[in-house]
Amino acid sequence: MPAVKPRVVVSRCLGFAACRWNGVSLPNAFVDKLASLVEFVDVCPEFDIGLGAPRDPIRVVEADGGVRLVQPATGRDLTQAMRGHITGLLDDLGEVDGFLLKHRSPTCGIKDVRRYAAADAKGAFGRGPGFLGGAVIERFPNLAVEDEGRLNNYTLREHYLTKLFSLAELRGVIHKPSMAALMDFQARHKLLLLAYDQAAMRRLGRLLARAEDAEKAAAEYRRGFATALTDPPGVGPVTNVLLHALGYFSKQISASEKAFFLDLLSDYREAKLPLSALSSVLRGWIIAHGVDYLARQSFFEPFPRELVEITDSGKGRDN
Ligand code: SF4
Repeated sequence: MPAVKPRVVVSRCLGFAACRWNGVSLPNAFVDKLASLVEFVDVCPEFDIGLGAPRDPIRVVEADGGVRLVQPATGRDLTQAMRGHITGLLDDLGEVDGFLLKHRSPTCGIKDVRRYAAADAKGAFGRGPGFLGGAVIERFPNLAVEDEGRLNNYTLREHYLTKLFSLAELRGVIHKPSMAALMDFQARHKLLLLAYDQAAMRRLGRLLARAEDAEKAAAEYRRGFATALTDPPGVGPVTNVLLHALGYFSKQISASEKAFFLDLLSDYREAKLPLSALSSVLRGWIIAHGVDYLARQSFFEPFPRELVEITDSGKGRDN
């Protein structure tokens, strides 16, 4: 359990209230699982600008070089009201580590939101972000931001959780920064950074080695760390980290144990297994053989174990 709970802004209709346009709530198993491990801040911009629930649906219209939010049945243009509300909402949020938003919603969607050429157009002509989703990506490019639809994919889910819990932990360190605490964070995340971005790992190490002022270094370190975790790590770098870790057990494990692990590794490389499956095997050996250096590495358990779930949308590593 991390010392600092991630603070996550979540779409209210994902099980918090029946605020969808059709007056229902959409309970979400992933949100339920996260509930005791994070602090949720639920938001529903459509309800909160006074549209009520149930309500006539709204849509994003892209025409004449601009994007508008309209309610075709009433002819209302909600663009200004929604923009103003979202600006105030994001201004007043305080410290947050991530967002978990409803996919495809004209307001909350991050991408894949239908775009129409006119309020009364029959079909959509393209896709893009919703009003809140787009504003979040623009204002918080370095936070853990996802929509619940994409989190059915285990690669995206593990990446999201890794970033969310790492950023929350770093927020705790930075709250009262000291060089010792920053260096300890860097040391514990060394293999994780190696998997995500080797150049960033070295840059961040140099930054801390040269820093004299912990406050100043902390802000720069946070930016660099979050940027390093922008995209899921590549299969090649992760494989290298796993093989590096396996090397610590060359004298302790049998040939058949090693072969078993290499089989799992091959499944991971072919997107048949999530990284957490291999990390679990290594964690068992770390505990059994008391390898302190690896035991401290966040790479093997970057988020609480109860969130490990190997089910997948069936799309492998596609995003
Ligand atoms: S998707 Fe967003 S705006 Fe729509 S009902 Fe859910 S929380 Fe409200």
